[in-house]
Amino acid sequence: MTKRMLITRYPHNVERAYAKNMLRLTQAIADIVLYEFDTNIAPEINSRNMRFDGYLVDSIFQKSLDRIKALTLGIFTAKEKYSIASKFVRASNSTAKTQFVNQMEVAGVDPTKTEPWLNDYMDAAIAENVSYIGSIGDEYSAKTEQIILRGAKEGRSGQEIRDELVDQIGMSENKAKFIARDQVGSLFGDLTTTRHKKVGIPGFMWSDSGDNRVRPLHVEYNGKYFSYDDPNAPIPGKDYGCRCVAIPEFDESVINAAVDERKQQENEDKTTLKNAYSEVVSAAQKAPGHIEKLLSSHITEDSFEIARDNSIAYAYRPSTKKIIINPSDRSMKYYNQQEILLHESGHLLDYANFKSWENKSFQIATQIERKVANWEEISELFHQEKWASDDYFSDICSALTENKVKGYAGHAASYWKRKGSAEKEIFANLFAMLALDKQESMAMVKKQFPMVYGSFIKMIEGDLSD
Ligand SMILES: [Zn+2]
Repeated sequence: MTKRMLITRYPHNVERAYAKNMLRLTQAIADIVLYEFDTNIAPEINSRNMRFDGYLVDSIFQKSLDRIKALTLGIFTAKEKYSIASKFVRASNSTAKTQFVNQMEVAGVDPTKTEPWLNDYMDAAIAENVSYIGSIGDEYSAKTEQIILRGAKEGRSGQEIRDELVDQIGMSENKAKFIARDQVGSLFGDLTTTRHKKVGIPGFMWSDSGDNRVRPLHVEYNGKYFSYDDPNAPIPGKDYGCRCVAIPEFDESVINAAVDERKQQENEDKTTLKNAYSEVVSAAQKAPGHIEKLLSSHITEDSFEIARDNSIAYAYRPSTKKIIINPSDRSMKYYNQQEILLHESGHLLDYANFKSWENKSFQIATQIERKVANWEEISELFHQEKWASDDYFSDICSALTENKVKGYAGHAASYWKRKGSAEKEIFANLFAMLALDKQESMAMVKKQFPMVYGSFIKMIEGDLSD
């Protein structure tokens, strides 16, 4: 007999209820603040046409501000915060537990009846949420006071200050929603996976919520199996706003196969990275002296990284200062690996050393060549296979004409609209031409774009002199 496993469902209703309860409190203090402002503070502000000095402002408004503070404390009481937090934690737990028990029944597994760990766990979760709820009230009353005092001192009108107070309510509401979303995912995920582990389930299948808000990495995890024995395995719901869930998998062989496959992939990735590095090293050894020096001083084994969340096969990622490779990208096989890696190395060096997109002479050269180059003659060149398939030269023309004149290789038109992208790509292509000693291509760039060529050589050689 085959049994169908019940899926795990993210508890949207618990998230909504939690946010709603927190919003009820924010709305209540917002009402008090606006009432106090309209009846006692605004008339005061509007009746004066001179600027207050600090002392006067403080003394006039202090009574109102004190009253707001007291009423806020009366709304965000310890009892109220505890009640909302514990309602939320209990609802998360009972939803998680019901789903768990149903799944175990379908699988014919006896769910452990006593859960001695649960009380301490829930107490800690409630305490944590009490402090989050409290932070909404604390922040709101501090901001309110700031807005009123600063507004009055700076001579703003009553209406302007009121508008700011209303904006502040919106921010508190966003904070409440933020907390609800974050807490539900992580609490629900944690309770679900803890229960799985306690009854000895070997692993789980990752299941995302299937809409377009799922982060790319989690889309990739979707449908994959992870072992509860693996301390590095990701846990659904843990990342901020994550609505992914864990579906229990009882078959140990399924989990083991997934673990083995992941290990194998890790090894393959290691090999990919190692090969990438040796491609650059072997190119460097044959490169002109100063290029060799630049490459060997900046490119190390650590300069490469696997990134399956990237939508292209190769790229340079400035935020991590790494050349990223996506082995799952289908276009991978169309690249000449050494050529593309030298291009990405050019970007790495550009960011580390030259910042070509900020170099005035290179910027100006780029702008002038766009206008003065003999584009008719260059278009003719691309009728020849030799030039059409010269990726570096083609990409340079793609940069200068925003794809009007190019061979096979180039970047998306939308990319060229971004400031500095033409300089960055031209730099990387010229650098790679130099590194791989592509004399004919260099000669063609020198002939067609003499200013860009000259400015680039100056940039590179200027680096030699210091
Ligand atoms: Zn997720």
